[in-house]
Amino acid sequence: MRLSSRHETSMEHLTDPTTLRETAQAWRSQGLRTALVPTMGFLHAGHLSLMKYARSQADRVMISIFVNPTQFGPGEDLANYPRDLERDLRLAEEAGVDLVFTPEPEAMYPPGDRTRVEVVGMDAHLCGARRPGHFKGVATVVAKLLLLTLPHLAIFGEKDWQQLAILKRMALDLRLPTTILGRPTVREPDGLAMSSRNVYLTPIERAQAPNVRAALLRGQELLDSGERDVERLLALVRDDILANVPAGRLEYLELVDPDDLEPVSEWPEQALLAAAIQLGKARLIDNLLLTTAGGR
Ligand code: AMP
Repeated sequence: MRLSSRHETSMEHLTDPTTLRETAQAWRSQGLRTALVPTMGFLHAGHLSLMKYARSQADRVMISIFVNPTQFGPGEDLANYPRDLERDLRLAEEAGVDLVFTPEPEAMYPPGDRTRVEVVGMDAHLCGARRPGHFKGVATVVAKLLLLTLPHLAIFGEKDWQQLAILKRMALDLRLPTTILGRPTVREPDGLAMSSRNVYLTPIERAQAPNVRAALLRGQELLDSGERDVERLLALVRDDILANVPAGRLEYLELVDPDDLEPVSEWPEQALLAAAIQLGKARLIDNLLLTTAGGR
């Protein structure tokens, strides 16, 4: 619930961590409820849905736009990651954001920096297994942002399910005073999960990309029709992706526990079906929570 009406001043744009800390602290000490939405920018409707949700839950909404170097591996797209700060600032303001934080890398990683945050073992599967060090980089930067802002809420997308699960665990383990909330994936009309990286797709790749989601939905259909053999279900969904996304290279298709991300071999009530596919220059990820709630 919002505790007070929205203030009239325009959006603040900060680059200095100390000023961010002071501003967030002042809001908290005024009894205002605060929310943080961390992003890497090049905002799209998925990011904006998180900001609008934050707006509905908090008196002050902060976002960060920071392409975090420590979460990119060698050979990944750090240097080419799409950026458009001017447009991002306009969209954030329209979404009702109160404060945008855009630090330089040196502000987040002071000279001589050696500290990393690791959520041990939760990166053994899915993206973590293919992007060594990625989630250590994510956990480190999000821990820094949370410690600077100490928000009541921090909001993340379910598209990056492994990230969300790891950050929930981190906030719990570090006893941070922040509730980590996940929000549903926002999609293009044809089902493709929105991503800043979709701009890398050629028209042919873009036409095939929604078939990843379609294949995941096939997984739920198989479950609904009584399929209970995990290996067989995975093989059918894998074949579907290989047939319908021929321009892509399937990196993984896995069925894991939604909380601890360990592979499942028997059917629990819910399991996360997650895929990553390299499609031209874009690495796309998507997931679907499969449920046997029908009891069949
Ligand atoms: P990024 O800028 O890619 O680091 O994403 C910033 C936040 O937006 C993360 O919490 C993502 O999970 C979330 N996000 C990215 N794409 C989507 C989407 N299509 N729908 C909802 N949330 C998203």
